Order: sequence, then C-alpha cells, then structure tokens
Amino acid sequence: MKALVNKIIPFSSVDGPGNRTAIFLQGCNFNCLYCHNPETINQCVNCGQCVKVCPVGALSMQDGKVCYDYTKCVFCDACFKQCPNSSSPRVRSMTPEEVMAEVRKNMPFIRGITVSGGECTRWRDFLVELLTIAKAEGLSTLLDSNGSYDFSTDPELLAVTDGVMLDIKAWTSEDHKAVTGVDNTQVRANLEFLARAGKLEELRTVVVPGLFDAETAVREASAVAAPWQDKHPMRYKIICYRPMGVRESEKQRLQQPTAEYLQQLADLARSQGIHDVVIT
Ligand code: SF4
Ligand code: SF4
Repeated sequence: MKALVNKIIPFSSVDGPGNRTAIFLQGCNFNCLYCHNPETINQCVNCGQCVKVCPVGALSMQDGKVCYDYTKCVFCDACFKQCPNSSSPRVRSMTPEEVMAEVRKNMPFIRGITVSGGECTRWRDFLVELLTIAKAEGLSTLLDSNGSYDFSTDPELLAVTDGVMLDIKAWTSEDHKAVTGVDNTQVRANLEFLARAGKLEELRTVVVPGLFDAETAVREASAVAAPWQDKHPMRYKIICYRPMGVRESEKQRLQQPTAEYLQQLADLARSQGIHDVVIT
C-alpha cells in the first residue's frame, strides 16, 4: 500500500502541539483560492514543462513520465512554480513503513506526527497503517483535514487518530463554495461529530476580508465546539491570510486582514466559550 508524499518536514512546531514530524500527502478535493501549497492539489500529468526550468538537471522525462532525482535537487521550487497543473514533480510514492523510516530519524526529538496535504484522508488505508505503526512506537497522531471525509463512518481510522485539526473555511454553503469550489455540509457534520467524540484538536480559519463572512464562520463554529472542550483540549486558530506561496492569479485580488479585525474575531470565539484562541 502506497501514498504519494509531497514532502516530509522533520521538525514542525506549527502542525499541532510540541515538536512534530509533518507529512504532506498529494491530492486535494478542494481548490481554495488562498491555498499556500497549490502544488499539492493535483497529481502530475507528465506534461514535462517543469523539466525545462530545473537548474541542476534533477528532472528528466523517461518513457513519457517525469523522473525526479532527489540527490541532485537543490529545493529551489522552480519546478512547481512553473507547473500549470497545481502539481509537483517532487512527489514520492511511499509505503507507510518507508514514511516511518523517515520519522524514526527524528525520534526522540518529536512528540508525534501530523499528516496533512493536500487532503490526507484521500489516502485512508495508508493513513490507518501509518498511524497504527506510529502509535505503537509511542507517537501521538494528528490529522490536518479539510473536513470533507465522513469521520463518523470510520471507527478504525479514529481509533488510531488522537485528534483532527479541522479547517473551517467558511460557514454558509455559498461562502464555502466561493472559497473552495465545493459545499461544506460534511465539514459542519464533522465539526459536531469530532467535538462530541473528543477528537477535535484544533479549528482553523484563514481570514481574507471580503472573500467570505469570517464573523459568522468563527461565531457558529465556536458555538458548536465550545460545549465539548472538556472531552478534549481544543484550540481555535485564527490565521491571517498571507500571500506567500499563493497562486499569482489569486494574489492580485486577495486582501490581508488588519490586526484589529483578527483580534475582533478572536474575541468573538472567546465570547462563544472557546478557552484557547490564538492568532497567527
Ligand atoms: S526544486 Fe529541485 S527539482 Fe525542482 S527545479 Fe529546483 S532543483 Fe529542480
Ligand atoms: S509537475 Fe506539473 S509541470 Fe511537471 S510534469 Fe507534472 S504536471 Fe507537468
């Protein structure tokens, strides 16, 4: 069993509590306008355009497929910036055991692993196996999810998942479609299900003024999650939109929020009963 792995960050302090190894899987079913890692959205179609821009010959075409030589790469990111398909040629096909071999190099300096994306739940069987091994070796396990997967139908996955960091990209279906291209009925169902189940680790809202109604999103999501905080300590992260990594076509029209507006949203979450609110 294998998954396409976009990258593995050995030590991350922003993907959950403590020092963690973060694993980013390829492929997402949302298309967020402000996506900071658009090269994780689609799978490569082997068009070859990135090969021409690699300055060190780490990319080549063989039998119609793009090949990536990790040993030559200088990680300049020129390839995926060139990609017209929101993909990357640097993706590796790995088994859970191969990923764990990378994770073990970081022990004992990490508290756990966080699997992100893309949307990690698109690789459900891989996740169950990876998280089972990680837990058996004493690591905590978190998933960073856009909430499109119905967690309520998967006790096997939840049994090896300590918590889910859930994106609340908007509240109304109309707003959510404007941000991501898709409806959020499942996201909202997951919010309540995960909170009740004691598996909600974090809520995350990226704030982009004028793109969606952030006040409604923060107020409504907080109201749903707040009564269940005793089941599992939970944090609401209010995230300032930053243009770094965002597609050029979208950068032009997306605005950054003011510090005052972010503070107002944090206060709103607290007023709904959320104890732990941070602005990043
Ligand atoms: S990131 Fe690596 S593969 Fe991509 S263009 Fe730069 S050197 Fe080449
Ligand atoms: S990563 Fe993008 S540019 Fe490179 S071959 Fe694949 S689809 Fe084409």
